This record gives sequence, structure tokens and C-alpha cells, in this order.
Amino acid sequence: MSSGFGTEIVSVINRLQDVFSAVGSPAAQIDLPQICVLGSQSSGKSSVLENIVGRDFLPRGTGIITRRPLILQLIHRRASTPAANGTAKLDGAEADTHANENEWGEFLHLPGEKFDDFNKIRAEIVRDTEAKTGRNAGISPQPINLRIYSPNVLTLTLVDLPGLTKVPVGDQPKDIEKQIKNMLLRYISKSSCLILAVTAANADLANSDGLKLAREVDPEGLRTIGVLTKLDLMDQGTDVVDILAGRFIPLRLGYVPVVNRGQRDIDQSKPIAAALEQEREYFENHPSYKSKAQYCGTPFLARRLNAHLMRHIQSMLPDVKAHITSQLQKYNAELVSLGSRIGDGSSQSIVLNVITEFTNEFRTVIDGNTNDLSLDE
Ligand code: GDP
Ligand code: MG
Repeated sequence: MSSGFGTEIVSVINRLQDVFSAVGSPAAQIDLPQICVLGSQSSGKSSVLENIVGRDFLPRGTGIITRRPLILQLIHRRASTPAANGTAKLDGAEADTHANENEWGEFLHLPGEKFDDFNKIRAEIVRDTEAKTGRNAGISPQPINLRIYSPNVLTLTLVDLPGLTKVPVGDQPKDIEKQIKNMLLRYISKSSCLILAVTAANADLANSDGLKLAREVDPEGLRTIGVLTKLDLMDQGTDVVDILAGRFIPLRLGYVPVVNRGQRDIDQSKPIAAALEQEREYFENHPSYKSKAQYCGTPFLARRLNAHLMRHIQSMLPDVKAHITSQLQKYNAELVSLGSRIGDGSSQSIVLNVITEFTNEFRTVIDGNTNDLSLDE
């Protein structure tokens, strides 16, 4: 499956949601799964998210940096420049800290304000975090909602969550661990939430907070993907091959190893494009990974995520289809009765056209493509 196709079906679902809200049918809300990043403080959660987005915009570093949930909606849009090919890609080819006209962010709490400078997005996250939680390491369950529009992302919703901490610092209450845990559980308990359980490869997997908490809500591992970060910081001569092969703590959906930027790279503003290139080289040249380099790294992780979303959508298609059909019948009947009163008014035919057009388009996707919705490995 090409990533481009996956984007197509997700965007169809998005348009379907738009049509339903336009015709005022809240009953037809389609719940897409969110993807949540879970793990200890400083395991690399925000870094993983940034690499998936291909942009440098999240506050990162040592200490508790992410103090409120960040709900990040990535929305794929075609580039308006002729040079772009219009398919989703994650190679970060044009990535730098400044966005272009095709790429911007928008916060829910600042409607209508386009952020085309990703440094300003980061500053706004920090500003609003401090406004709601104070400066001294407080946390809050109140999320920050950010949408990123870009030709370089897959359409996904990701949630960056505060890390699990054990010892209170600053103004944190004594029961900080319990508070954070409860906050995380609220997000990851939903059966439709995909969990990215992030663990630093230079830490002990058996003690992974992310995996432990994920297991509480997903004991069979049906919706947990393991992400191993900091491979570059492992002791020489050690590797994660046993973990990847499921010989240690097996996960049904497996593990994906990644290499993010280290703190020095961040301090030196190393562009994401360069970091992704370096990640690719790392896996292609490492004696333990080079034979399976295509299953390693951020681009593979992104494809994995997309494939899981597609599966979820596929499982909902029969219900959606039944719903559309019954809505269509209902509207048709209403239109017939209206027609006798107000004649061939334009408003009714607009509604009908929208739905009919949409149903046809959607049917093409359902009938034509469902067989292709499998993992690409
Ligand atoms: P979070 O607290 O889980 O969100 O972790 P961050 O993404 O903020 O990362 C914490 C620190 O670890 C930062 O200084 C990152 O630069 C560093 N880091 C994260 N992933 C990697 C990695 O794969 N390799 C290296 N060398 N450093 C990493
Ligand atoms: Mg973070």
C-alpha cells in the first residue's frame, strides 16, 4: 500500500464528516482513533512526534517539558506549487524551521490565526502551557489543540502526553505520579486509541513505564505499538534485535526502532531533514539492522500508523455505508413531501446533490479499494 492511497481514504472520511456536519447529522459522527504517545519523562515522546510531522515545533529537553496534553491534528493538503507531487511524504525534503505558504499551524484557542513560523508555534505552546499551569513544573489535564496543515504529513491525530514522573518537583503536588497516571489513562483507555509506547533503548524495557501502563488498558496488545528511541546511545556492541524479534516482551503490533535528534542537535538547530537522513544512514549502515533497515526508522513508523488507521476505518465502512443509505432514503422521502409544498426550490436539491455525490464517491472508495487495505509488509 502506498502512503498516498492511505491519505486518500482518510481524507474521504474527513470530507464525509464535513458533509454530515453540513447537513446537521451529528448521529453520524465518525470517531477516528487518536494516536497517543506514552512513556517516561525524557524517553523521546515529543521527539518522535516531531519527526512524524517532519517539523521542529515542540518544546523538548530534559525535565518535564510537556505539561499539558497536546492534541495535534495533522491535515494533509496538496501543495499549491507545481513542484509538489501531491502525495504524502515524510522524507522531510524541504523541512526547515520556517514553513511556506503550504504549511501552517492553527490553535483552537486562537481561531483564524495562521502560524507559518514553527518557532512561533513552539513559543505559543510554551506560553499557553505557562498561562494554564504556572512556570514551576505544574501539570494540567486541559489540552492544547493544534492543527497542522501540510503537504508533507499523513492525515492523523496525535496526542503528546506528559511523561510519567515519580518524584514531585517544583510546585507539583505530592501525588503527581497518580495525577499524571489518571490523566494518561483518560486518553489511552478509549478502545479506539492507538498507543505508541515509547521506551529509550538505553533503558531497561522490563521497567518501561509506557509499556506497563499500556498493558493496563490493552492487556492483549491489540493497539499498542512499541517505539524504541535513543538507539544511538546504546552501549557499543549491544542492539535491540531480540526486542524487535519479539523474544523479550512480545507485542502483537511489534516495535519500531528510531533515532531522534539528541539535545546537542536541538541546541544547534539541526534541521529535521538532516536528522531523518542521518537516521536512515544509521539503520542502513548498522551491522545489526542493515538487513531490515526498511522496517526501521520514522518513515516506517508513520506508514505503520497509517495502516492501522486504515484498518480501523475499514472495519467501520459497513456501518457508515448503511448509515448513508438510510439517511439518503430519509432525505429523499422528506424532499418528496417538501417538493409538493415548495416546488423545485434550490436548497433541497443542493442537499441532495451533496449527499448523492458523496455517496457515489464514497462507494467508489469502498468498492474499489477495501481489498488493498492491508499492511505493506
Ligand atoms: P519526552 O519528555 O519523552 O517528550 O522527550 P523529548 O522528546 O523531550 O526528549 C528528551 C531528550 O532526549 C531531548 O534532549 C532529546 O534530544 C533526547 N532524545 C530523544 N530521542 C533521542 C534519540 O533517539 N537519540 C538521542 N541521542 N537523543 C534523543
Ligand atoms: Mg515531551
